[in-house]
Amino acid sequence: MNTIKHTNKKISIIAPFFNEEESLPIFLEEVLNIVKELVGYNFEIIFIDDGSTDNSLVFLKEKAKENKNIIVLELSRNFGKEAALTAGIDMAIGSAIIPIDVDLQDPPILIKKMIKQWESGSDVVLAKRENRLNENFLKRISASFFYKIYSFFVGNSKISNVGDFRLIDKRVVDNIKNLKEKNRYMKGLLSWPGFSSAEIPYTRNKRKAGKSKFTFLKLLNLGFEGVTSFSILPLKFFTTIGFIGIIFSFFFAIIILLQKIFYENFIEGYAFLILLILFFGSLQLLGIGILGEYIGKIYIETKNRPIYIIKNRYN
Ligand code: UDP
Ligand code: MG
Repeated sequence: MNTIKHTNKKISIIAPFFNEEESLPIFLEEVLNIVKELVGYNFEIIFIDDGSTDNSLVFLKEKAKENKNIIVLELSRNFGKEAALTAGIDMAIGSAIIPIDVDLQDPPILIKKMIKQWESGSDVVLAKRENRLNENFLKRISASFFYKIYSFFVGNSKISNVGDFRLIDKRVVDNIKNLKEKNRYMKGLLSWPGFSSAEIPYTRNKRKAGKSKFTFLKLLNLGFEGVTSFSILPLKFFTTIGFIGIIFSFFFAIIILLQKIFYENFIEGYAFLILLILFFGSLQLLGIGILGEYIGKIYIETKNRPIYIIKNRYN
């Protein structure tokens, strides 16, 4: 099966990080060990410092001096993981890229399997989380809820239980580089070009050191971003509800009119009325809110600000 078809054997490992001084040494050691075993390939390991305020950068600058395959991009401030990853992808020159987290939740050992799959013809090799036993209840429930909502609005798009950790062939990467939008839901953007893909199941580890940089609120925001970046169905949803509401009101009006004419003691209906006002009032606000989300996106896109700023590059 192993038909080796790639002549350029440079692989770009892309690792965005933010305040990871505890994780970086373990991560780098593990990755360098794996890379060493992959004879016949060249690697560039691109670290993107997303505005860290700890000693992460000091450590990596030292390492970059010793090893020319370690490239460090220092962003001018914290732009968020999505932007940092974009910076790394833009800079990568490998014939395949592998975005990876530095907290070792994405096991670097999978890189070997990914490359093998790539050599046998897959353009994209996804690391798919087989179970989420290492995650807390809230995260598990919200993730499965999110994937349901996402697939309802966006359709079947291969994002369930995969992260950014994957191998992507250069011809797919070139297409991803063309996606210049400022609202960046990377998982969606990475999947957007399509191409042939294979999956490698794995169990996601717990963080080796340090703390997660994503709070529940940040994740919720990212999820919202994901849906609204890839679907305008939520907007149409409200058109439909509005339409159904109008038909409903029309029949309701006729019933009330008939009641008014034929019954002497016409119903009071105070509670019902208040409920109705509250319900449709909130529904309207929700609709306006969602409309606002999209307008906000247009606003951000039109300003056309850069996604990230590189302050320094080492190597
Ligand atoms: N990260 C980043 N910029 C940020 C937040 C996080 O580059 O503003 C990096 C972080 O250092 C890690 C990866 O993104 O390498 C994933 O973050 P984290 O492990 O905190 O997220 P989780 O795995 O908990 O979702
Ligand atoms: Mg993590």
